[in-house]
Amino acid sequence: MLESGRVLVTGGAGFLGSHLCERLIKDGNDVLCVDNYFTGRRTNVESLLRHPRFEIMRHDVTFPLYVEVDQIYNLACPASPIHYQHDPVQTTKTSVHGAINMLGLAKRVRATIFQASTSEVYGDPQIHPQTEEYWGHVNPIGLRSCYDEGKRCAETLFFDYHRQHRLKIKVGRIFNTYGPRMHPNDGRVVSNFIVQALGNRDITIYGDGSQTRSFCYVSDLIEAFVRLMATGPEVTGPINLGNPVEFTMVQLAEAVIRLTGSSSRLVFQPLPSDDPRQRQPDISRARQLLGWEPRVALEDGLKETIAYFRSIL
Ligand code: NAD
Ligand code: UDP
Repeated sequence: MLESGRVLVTGGAGFLGSHLCERLIKDGNDVLCVDNYFTGRRTNVESLLRHPRFEIMRHDVTFPLYVEVDQIYNLACPASPIHYQHDPVQTTKTSVHGAINMLGLAKRVRATIFQASTSEVYGDPQIHPQTEEYWGHVNPIGLRSCYDEGKRCAETLFFDYHRQHRLKIKVGRIFNTYGPRMHPNDGRVVSNFIVQALGNRDITIYGDGSQTRSFCYVSDLIEAFVRLMATGPEVTGPINLGNPVEFTMVQLAEAVIRLTGSSSRLVFQPLPSDDPRQRQPDISRARQLLGWEPRVALEDGLKETIAYFRSIL
Protein backbone atom coordinates (compact mmCIF):
# COMPACT_ATOMS: atom_id res chain seq x y z
CA MET A 1 0.00 0.00 0.00
CA LEU A 2 1.02 3.61 -0.55
CA GLU A 3 1.95 5.67 2.45
CA SER A 4 -0.50 8.46 3.13
CA GLY A 5 0.31 11.74 1.46
CA ARG A 6 -1.01 14.92 -0.07
CA VAL A 7 -3.58 14.08 -2.71
CA LEU A 8 -5.30 16.36 -5.23
CA VAL A 9 -8.70 15.24 -6.53
CA THR A 10 -10.01 17.29 -9.47
CA GLY A 11 -13.77 17.01 -9.89
CA GLY A 12 -13.78 16.06 -6.20
CA ALA A 13 -17.24 17.48 -5.51
CA GLY A 14 -18.84 15.27 -8.16
CA PHE A 15 -20.37 11.83 -7.82
CA LEU A 16 -17.23 9.68 -8.05
CA GLY A 17 -14.92 12.41 -6.73
CA SER A 18 -16.81 12.78 -3.45
CA HIS A 19 -16.63 9.03 -2.75
CA LEU A 20 -12.94 9.06 -3.61
CA CYS A 21 -12.26 12.02 -1.27
CA GLU A 22 -14.01 10.17 1.57
CA ARG A 23 -11.96 7.06 0.97
CA LEU A 24 -8.67 8.97 0.78
CA ILE A 25 -9.41 10.82 4.04
CA LYS A 26 -10.30 7.50 5.69
CA ASP A 27 -6.93 6.14 4.55
CA GLY A 28 -5.13 8.99 6.34
CA ASN A 29 -4.29 11.28 3.42
CA ASP A 30 -4.44 15.07 3.20
CA VAL A 31 -6.95 15.77 0.44
CA LEU A 32 -7.26 18.87 -1.70
CA CYS A 33 -10.55 18.78 -3.62
CA VAL A 34 -10.73 21.06 -6.65
CA ASP A 35 -14.01 21.65 -8.52
CA ASN A 36 -15.76 24.36 -10.53
CA TYR A 37 -19.19 23.03 -9.44
CA PHE A 38 -20.42 22.57 -13.01
CA THR A 39 -22.11 19.29 -12.10
CA GLY A 40 -20.66 18.78 -8.61
CA ARG A 41 -21.96 20.19 -5.33
CA ARG A 42 -20.41 21.16 -2.00
CA THR A 43 -23.09 19.08 -0.29
CA ASN A 44 -21.50 15.95 -1.80
CA VAL A 45 -18.49 16.50 0.47
CA GLU A 46 -20.45 17.98 3.37
CA SER A 47 -19.25 15.30 5.79
CA LEU A 48 -15.64 16.28 5.04
CA LEU A 49 -15.86 20.07 5.14
CA ARG A 50 -14.81 20.34 8.79
CA HIS A 51 -12.18 17.63 8.58
CA PRO A 52 -8.71 18.99 9.37
CA ARG A 53 -7.08 17.02 6.52
CA PHE A 54 -9.65 18.11 3.91
CA GLU A 55 -9.59 21.30 1.85
CA ILE A 56 -11.87 22.37 -0.99
CA MET A 57 -11.06 24.95 -3.66
CA ARG A 58 -13.24 26.36 -6.45
CA HIS A 59 -11.10 26.16 -9.55
CA ASP A 60 -11.54 25.35 -13.23
CA VAL A 61 -8.91 22.86 -14.45
CA THR A 62 -8.74 24.57 -17.84
CA PHE A 63 -6.60 27.13 -15.96
CA PRO A 64 -3.20 26.26 -14.44
CA LEU A 65 -3.00 25.28 -10.80
CA TYR A 66 0.05 25.57 -8.57
CA VAL A 67 -0.09 23.38 -5.47
CA GLU A 68 2.26 20.90 -3.78
CA VAL A 69 0.95 17.34 -3.85
CA ASP A 70 2.21 13.74 -4.11
CA GLN A 71 -0.68 12.24 -6.07
CA ILE A 72 -3.29 13.59 -8.46
CA TYR A 73 -6.60 11.97 -9.40
CA ASN A 74 -7.89 13.84 -12.45
CA LEU A 75 -11.66 13.36 -12.49
CA ALA A 76 -12.82 16.83 -13.55
CA CYS A 77 -15.22 16.51 -16.49
CA PRO A 78 -19.00 16.25 -16.74
CA ALA A 79 -19.84 12.58 -17.34
CA SER A 80 -23.50 12.58 -18.28
CA PRO A 81 -24.36 13.05 -21.98
CA ILE A 82 -26.86 15.88 -21.31
CA HIS A 83 -24.29 17.78 -19.27
CA TYR A 84 -21.26 17.22 -21.47
CA GLN A 85 -23.32 18.17 -24.54
CA HIS A 86 -24.60 21.36 -22.89
CA ASP A 87 -21.33 23.21 -23.62
CA PRO A 88 -19.35 20.85 -25.84
CA VAL A 89 -16.45 23.24 -26.40
CA GLN A 90 -15.96 23.55 -22.65
CA THR A 91 -16.12 19.74 -22.37
CA THR A 92 -13.25 19.28 -24.82
CA LYS A 93 -11.31 22.06 -23.10
CA THR A 94 -11.85 20.43 -19.72
CA SER A 95 -10.51 17.10 -20.95
CA VAL A 96 -7.62 18.44 -23.03
CA HIS A 97 -6.51 21.68 -21.32
CA GLY A 98 -7.36 20.09 -17.99
CA ALA A 99 -5.08 17.15 -18.77
CA ILE A 100 -2.28 19.46 -19.94
CA ASN A 101 -2.55 21.56 -16.77
CA MET A 102 -2.69 18.58 -14.42
CA LEU A 103 0.13 16.76 -16.25
CA GLY A 104 2.21 19.94 -16.08
CA LEU A 105 1.56 20.12 -12.35
CA ALA A 106 2.46 16.42 -11.92
CA LYS A 107 5.68 16.97 -13.87
CA ARG A 108 6.70 19.97 -11.75
CA VAL A 109 6.05 18.29 -8.38
CA ARG A 110 6.88 14.71 -9.57
CA ALA A 111 3.44 13.45 -8.54
CA THR A 112 1.84 10.21 -9.73
CA ILE A 113 -1.24 11.05 -11.76
CA PHE A 114 -4.43 9.05 -12.38
CA GLN A 115 -6.71 9.83 -15.32
CA ALA A 116 -10.43 9.06 -15.17
CA SER A 117 -10.76 7.85 -18.73
CA THR A 118 -13.82 6.09 -20.02
CA SER A 119 -15.29 3.19 -21.94
CA GLU A 120 -16.39 5.89 -24.42
CA VAL A 121 -12.88 5.73 -25.91
CA TYR A 122 -14.18 2.50 -27.51
CA GLY A 123 -17.17 4.38 -29.00
CA ASP A 124 -19.81 2.04 -30.42
CA PRO A 125 -17.60 -1.04 -30.14
CA GLN A 126 -17.25 -3.66 -32.84
CA ILE A 127 -15.64 -6.20 -30.54
CA HIS A 128 -17.29 -7.59 -27.48
CA PRO A 129 -16.41 -7.57 -24.61
CA GLN A 130 -13.96 -4.68 -24.91
CA THR A 131 -10.29 -5.30 -24.13
CA GLU A 132 -7.71 -2.57 -23.65
CA GLU A 133 -6.07 -3.50 -26.97
CA TYR A 134 -9.15 -2.44 -28.93
CA TRP A 135 -8.66 1.00 -30.57
CA GLY A 136 -12.33 1.83 -30.71
CA HIS A 137 -15.01 2.90 -33.16
CA VAL A 138 -15.62 6.57 -32.47
CA ASN A 139 -17.39 9.24 -34.51
CA PRO A 140 -15.02 12.26 -34.44
CA ILE A 141 -17.68 14.86 -35.38
CA GLY A 142 -20.87 13.74 -33.61
CA LEU A 143 -22.71 14.96 -30.53
CA ARG A 144 -20.75 12.64 -28.20
CA SER A 145 -17.39 13.49 -29.77
CA CYS A 146 -16.57 16.38 -27.42
CA TYR A 147 -16.46 13.83 -24.62
CA ASP A 148 -15.14 10.76 -26.45
CA GLU A 149 -12.41 12.52 -28.42
CA GLY A 150 -11.57 14.80 -25.50
CA LYS A 151 -10.94 11.73 -23.34
CA ARG A 152 -9.00 10.02 -26.13
CA CYS A 153 -6.76 13.07 -26.54
CA ALA A 154 -6.27 13.17 -22.76
CA GLU A 155 -5.04 9.55 -22.92
CA THR A 156 -2.63 10.55 -25.71
CA LEU A 157 -1.27 13.37 -23.54
CA PHE A 158 -0.87 11.04 -20.55
CA PHE A 159 1.16 8.53 -22.57
CA ASP A 160 3.28 11.24 -24.22
CA TYR A 161 4.09 12.79 -20.83
CA HIS A 162 4.98 9.29 -19.65
CA ARG A 163 7.29 8.61 -22.62
CA GLN A 164 8.71 12.12 -22.92
CA HIS A 165 8.98 13.16 -19.27
CA ARG A 166 8.94 9.79 -17.47
CA LEU A 167 5.82 10.78 -15.60
CA LYS A 168 4.19 8.12 -13.44
CA ILE A 169 0.72 7.73 -14.97
CA LYS A 170 -2.30 5.53 -14.24
CA VAL A 171 -5.03 5.54 -16.87
CA GLY A 172 -8.29 3.86 -15.81
CA ARG A 173 -11.04 3.34 -18.39
CA ILE A 174 -14.20 3.54 -16.33
CA PHE A 175 -17.37 1.76 -17.44
CA ASN A 176 -20.86 2.90 -16.35
CA THR A 177 -20.80 3.42 -12.59
CA TYR A 178 -23.74 4.31 -10.35
CA GLY A 179 -24.58 4.86 -6.70
CA PRO A 180 -25.59 7.39 -4.06
CA ARG A 181 -24.83 11.07 -4.85
CA MET A 182 -25.56 10.86 -8.53
CA HIS A 183 -27.42 14.09 -9.20
CA PRO A 184 -31.20 13.52 -9.52
CA ASN A 185 -31.13 15.51 -12.79
CA ASP A 186 -27.90 13.93 -13.93
CA GLY A 187 -29.61 12.35 -16.95
CA ARG A 188 -27.78 9.04 -16.79
CA VAL A 189 -29.88 5.95 -17.00
CA VAL A 190 -29.72 4.59 -13.44
CA SER A 191 -30.58 7.90 -11.77
CA ASN A 192 -33.26 8.68 -14.38
CA PHE A 193 -35.00 5.34 -13.92
CA ILE A 194 -34.90 5.46 -10.11
CA VAL A 195 -36.14 9.06 -9.90
CA GLN A 196 -38.95 8.27 -12.38
CA ALA A 197 -39.90 5.06 -10.55
CA LEU A 198 -40.01 6.73 -7.15
CA GLY A 199 -42.38 9.35 -8.56
CA ASN A 200 -44.49 6.65 -10.28
CA ARG A 201 -43.78 8.52 -13.54
CA ASP A 202 -43.19 6.93 -16.94
CA ILE A 203 -39.77 5.31 -17.32
CA THR A 204 -38.10 6.68 -20.44
CA ILE A 205 -36.41 3.99 -22.47
CA TYR A 206 -34.41 5.38 -25.37
CA GLY A 207 -34.67 3.23 -28.49
CA ASP A 208 -36.13 -0.24 -28.01
CA GLY A 209 -34.17 -0.79 -24.80
CA SER A 210 -32.20 -3.74 -26.16
CA GLN A 211 -28.92 -1.80 -25.96
CA THR A 212 -26.71 -3.02 -23.13
CA ARG A 213 -24.51 -1.56 -20.42
CA SER A 214 -22.56 -3.14 -17.55
CA PHE A 215 -23.07 -1.32 -14.27
CA CYS A 216 -20.46 -1.03 -11.52
CA TYR A 217 -21.35 0.06 -8.00
CA VAL A 218 -19.38 3.07 -6.80
CA SER A 219 -17.62 1.41 -3.82
CA ASP A 220 -16.18 -1.27 -6.11
CA LEU A 221 -14.85 1.35 -8.50
CA ILE A 222 -13.22 3.48 -5.79
CA GLU A 223 -11.42 0.37 -4.48
CA ALA A 224 -10.00 -0.12 -7.99
CA PHE A 225 -8.82 3.52 -8.18
CA VAL A 226 -6.91 3.20 -4.92
CA ARG A 227 -5.39 -0.14 -5.91
CA LEU A 228 -4.32 1.23 -9.28
CA MET A 229 -2.66 4.25 -7.66
CA ALA A 230 -0.76 1.88 -5.32
CA THR A 231 0.82 -0.13 -8.17
CA GLY A 232 4.45 0.26 -9.18
CA PRO A 233 5.54 2.74 -11.89
CA GLU A 234 5.53 0.00 -14.55
CA VAL A 235 1.73 -0.16 -14.35
CA THR A 236 0.47 2.71 -16.50
CA GLY A 237 -2.78 1.29 -17.86
CA PRO A 238 -4.91 1.75 -19.77
CA ILE A 239 -6.89 -0.59 -17.62
CA ASN A 240 -10.62 -1.30 -17.83
CA LEU A 241 -12.46 -0.68 -14.56
CA GLY A 242 -16.05 -1.81 -14.40
CA ASN A 243 -18.44 -4.64 -13.72
CA PRO A 244 -18.59 -7.20 -16.54
CA VAL A 245 -22.17 -8.29 -15.87
CA GLU A 246 -24.21 -6.91 -18.76
CA PHE A 247 -27.89 -5.87 -18.84
CA THR A 248 -30.28 -4.43 -21.42
CA MET A 249 -31.98 -1.14 -20.55
CA VAL A 250 -35.32 -2.94 -20.40
CA GLN A 251 -33.89 -5.38 -17.83
CA LEU A 252 -32.56 -2.44 -15.82
CA ALA A 253 -35.97 -0.71 -15.92
CA GLU A 254 -37.74 -3.89 -14.81
CA ALA A 255 -35.31 -4.34 -11.90
CA VAL A 256 -35.83 -0.72 -10.79
CA ILE A 257 -39.63 -1.07 -10.94
CA ARG A 258 -39.51 -4.29 -8.93
CA LEU A 259 -37.15 -2.92 -6.26
CA THR A 260 -39.06 0.35 -5.83
CA GLY A 261 -42.51 -1.27 -5.96
CA SER A 262 -43.39 1.42 -8.47
CA SER A 263 -46.48 1.59 -10.71
CA SER A 264 -44.46 3.29 -13.47
CA ARG A 265 -44.90 2.15 -17.08
CA LEU A 266 -42.17 1.88 -19.71
CA VAL A 267 -42.34 4.45 -22.52
CA PHE A 268 -40.11 4.32 -25.56
CA GLN A 269 -38.40 7.47 -26.87
CA PRO A 270 -35.97 8.06 -29.77
CA LEU A 271 -32.45 6.74 -29.32
CA PRO A 272 -29.88 9.58 -29.05
CA SER A 273 -27.35 9.72 -31.90
CA ASP A 274 -24.23 7.54 -31.65
CA ASP A 275 -25.64 5.73 -28.60
CA PRO A 276 -23.45 2.59 -28.23
CA ARG A 277 -25.34 -0.66 -28.85
CA GLN A 278 -23.51 -2.75 -26.30
CA ARG A 279 -20.82 -2.37 -23.72
CA GLN A 280 -19.07 -4.82 -21.43
CA PRO A 281 -15.54 -4.56 -20.03
CA ASP A 282 -13.04 -7.37 -20.23
CA ILE A 283 -11.45 -6.92 -16.79
CA SER A 284 -8.76 -9.64 -17.03
CA ARG A 285 -6.04 -6.99 -16.77
CA ALA A 286 -7.55 -5.45 -13.62
CA ARG A 287 -7.98 -8.90 -12.08
CA GLN A 288 -4.35 -9.75 -12.75
CA LEU A 289 -2.65 -6.41 -11.94
CA LEU A 290 -4.86 -5.18 -9.11
CA GLY A 291 -6.19 -8.46 -7.70
CA TRP A 292 -9.54 -6.72 -8.04
CA GLU A 293 -13.01 -7.52 -9.22
CA PRO A 294 -16.40 -6.00 -8.41
CA ARG A 295 -18.27 -7.51 -5.45
CA VAL A 296 -21.59 -5.66 -5.43
CA ALA A 297 -24.33 -7.21 -7.56
CA LEU A 298 -26.65 -4.87 -9.48
CA GLU A 299 -29.63 -5.69 -7.27
CA ASP A 300 -27.73 -4.81 -4.06
CA GLY A 301 -26.24 -1.63 -5.52
CA LEU A 302 -29.65 -0.55 -6.81
CA LYS A 303 -31.15 -1.03 -3.32
CA GLU A 304 -28.52 1.33 -1.82
CA THR A 305 -29.02 3.85 -4.60
CA ILE A 306 -32.81 3.72 -4.31
CA ALA A 307 -32.54 4.29 -0.55
CA TYR A 308 -30.36 7.34 -1.24
CA PHE A 309 -32.81 8.85 -3.73
CA ARG A 310 -35.74 8.16 -1.40
CA SER A 311 -33.90 10.11 1.32
CA ILE A 312 -33.31 13.21 -0.84
CA LEU A 313 -36.44 13.42 -2.99
P1 NAD B 1 -19.79 14.19 -12.19
O1 NAD B 1 -20.37 15.06 -13.25
O2 NAD B 1 -20.61 13.92 -10.98
O3 NAD B 1 -18.39 14.76 -11.70
C1 NAD B 1 -17.54 15.55 -12.47
C2 NAD B 1 -17.01 16.67 -11.57
O4 NAD B 1 -16.08 17.47 -12.35
C3 NAD B 1 -18.11 17.62 -11.10
O5 NAD B 1 -17.95 17.84 -9.72
C4 NAD B 1 -17.88 18.86 -11.92
O6 NAD B 1 -18.35 20.04 -11.27
C5 NAD B 1 -16.37 18.84 -12.09
N1 NAD B 1 -15.89 19.61 -13.24
C6 NAD B 1 -16.37 19.61 -14.51
N2 NAD B 1 -15.65 20.44 -15.29
C7 NAD B 1 -14.68 20.97 -14.47
C8 NAD B 1 -13.62 21.89 -14.69
N3 NAD B 1 -13.41 22.46 -15.89
N4 NAD B 1 -12.83 22.22 -13.65
C9 NAD B 1 -13.04 21.68 -12.43
N5 NAD B 1 -14.02 20.79 -12.16
C10 NAD B 1 -14.83 20.45 -13.19
O7 NAD B 1 -19.38 12.83 -12.91
P2 NAD B 1 -18.73 11.50 -12.32
O8 NAD B 1 -19.60 10.37 -12.70
O9 NAD B 1 -18.34 11.67 -10.90
O10 NAD B 1 -17.41 11.39 -13.23
C11 NAD B 1 -16.13 11.68 -12.73
C12 NAD B 1 -15.08 11.34 -13.79
O11 NAD B 1 -15.15 9.96 -14.12
C13 NAD B 1 -15.26 12.12 -15.10
O12 NAD B 1 -14.00 12.47 -15.61
C14 NAD B 1 -15.93 11.10 -16.01
O13 NAD B 1 -15.63 11.35 -17.35
C15 NAD B 1 -15.32 9.80 -15.50
N6 NAD B 1 -16.19 8.65 -15.81
C16 NAD B 1 -17.30 8.41 -15.08
C17 NAD B 1 -18.12 7.33 -15.39
C18 NAD B 1 -19.35 6.99 -14.60
O14 NAD B 1 -20.06 6.07 -14.99
N7 NAD B 1 -19.67 7.62 -13.51
C19 NAD B 1 -17.79 6.52 -16.48
C20 NAD B 1 -16.66 6.81 -17.24
C21 NAD B 1 -15.85 7.88 -16.87
N1 UDP C 1 -31.06 5.70 -21.44
C1 UDP C 1 -32.41 5.41 -21.44
N2 UDP C 1 -33.23 6.21 -20.72
C2 UDP C 1 -32.80 7.27 -20.00
C3 UDP C 1 -31.41 7.56 -19.99
C4 UDP C 1 -30.57 6.76 -20.73
O1 UDP C 1 -32.85 4.45 -22.07
O2 UDP C 1 -33.64 7.94 -19.36
C5 UDP C 1 -30.15 4.82 -22.20
C6 UDP C 1 -29.17 5.54 -23.13
O3 UDP C 1 -29.75 5.78 -24.39
C7 UDP C 1 -28.04 4.53 -23.19
C8 UDP C 1 -28.05 3.87 -21.80
O4 UDP C 1 -29.34 4.16 -21.26
O5 UDP C 1 -28.30 3.55 -24.16
C9 UDP C 1 -26.99 4.43 -20.86
O6 UDP C 1 -27.09 5.84 -20.89
P1 UDP C 1 -26.22 6.77 -19.94
O7 UDP C 1 -26.50 8.19 -20.35
O8 UDP C 1 -26.46 6.40 -18.53
O9 UDP C 1 -24.71 6.39 -20.25
P2 UDP C 1 -23.85 6.14 -21.58
O10 UDP C 1 -24.73 6.18 -22.78
O11 UDP C 1 -22.85 7.24 -21.58
O12 UDP C 1 -23.28 4.80 -21.37
